[in-house]
Amino acid sequence: SAAKREDRAVRVWSSDLARNAADELVLQSQLRRGIPKGELVLHYQPQYAAHSGALTGVEALVRWEHPERGLLGPYAFLPLAERSPVIVELTTWVLSRAVAQAAWWRQVAEVPVSVNLSPRLLAHEGLVDLVRAVLAMHGLPARLLTLEVTETAVMAQPERAREVLGELRALGVRISLDDFGTGYTSLAMLADLPLDELKVDRRFVSAILTADRDAAIVRSIAALARRLDLELVAEGVEDEETRRLLAEWGYDVLQGFLLGRPSPVEGLGPALGRARVPALAEPLPADVQV
Ligand code: C2E
Ligand code: MG
Ligand code: MG
Ligand code: MG
Repeated sequence: SAAKREDRAVRVWSSDLARNAADELVLQSQLRRGIPKGELVLHYQPQYAAHSGALTGVEALVRWEHPERGLLGPYAFLPLAERSPVIVELTTWVLSRAVAQAAWWRQVAEVPVSVNLSPRLLAHEGLVDLVRAVLAMHGLPARLLTLEVTETAVMAQPERAREVLGELRALGVRISLDDFGTGYTSLAMLADLPLDELKVDRRFVSAILTADRDAAIVRSIAALARRLDLELVAEGVEDEETRRLLAEWGYDVLQGFLLGRPSPVEGLGPALGRARVPALAEPLPADVQV
């Protein structure tokens, strides 16, 4: 039945697939071989200006079309990828694909794209060169790429993060602090980081109607972002009342199931249509190298 299928899909999507060390090794090697075979897929979730409703960009979210297990969400395989050097290959693919897509869209309209960087990439020596090379290869202006790093990853290595994010920003790339509110960054630390954007974590956003405490946090983050001159994004907007409150509190950009679910490029028509450029929903031609 549909309910059963849904249930199974949710289970496959939501937790680490590797139940033991042997499992983990098999999956890591399947992933390593799967990437060049084209098994990774990007879905894109639209982001909109809170007041005008204009499309401001899309976030690229990776999935793995596993030959036996079906379409896997990031929570199923990113943790195990993150524990192996294959995370560098995965990130290289995601970054190249997203940048190629944005360059393709740019023939019609500029659609900024956000890419998530795993914690391990912050420590990767070749990161800045990689980003520079990918942008150059596809001729995408750096300002159309935002790199999202989680607050937790930054706090795990604050010195390194400050240095590498500074170098990326010097390329012209935008930097977003993702899942903000979960990592206890001090005010002084935050003011010191080279950032363009704060992205408030879904767990706070989804609770603003029911928990005064979370509403207070989400409001004070807005005040903070204004002070630090950071663009403020809320993820996980699922209902109209939440959307209205966030706009009233000064959130600049909104993302969530209410406004648009992550979807393959082919399904982006309605989202991009709001930007009056429906032709953007065309997939990359097969011969575009990534
Ligand atoms: P994230 O960067 O915080 O991305 C937002 C996640 O929230 C996505 O889940 C998205 O589908 C989901 N989401 C968006 N709006 C709503 C909503 O209104 N309600 C609910 N319940 N969920 C919403 P997804 O695609 O499963 O990705 C999960 C996480 O995996 C991402 O969280 C990100 O941390 C990571 N991730 C995804 N793609 C990549 C990637 O290419 N590289 C790396 N390193 N991490 C990635
Ligand atoms: Mg993100
Ligand atoms: Mg996030
Ligand atoms: Mg999140």
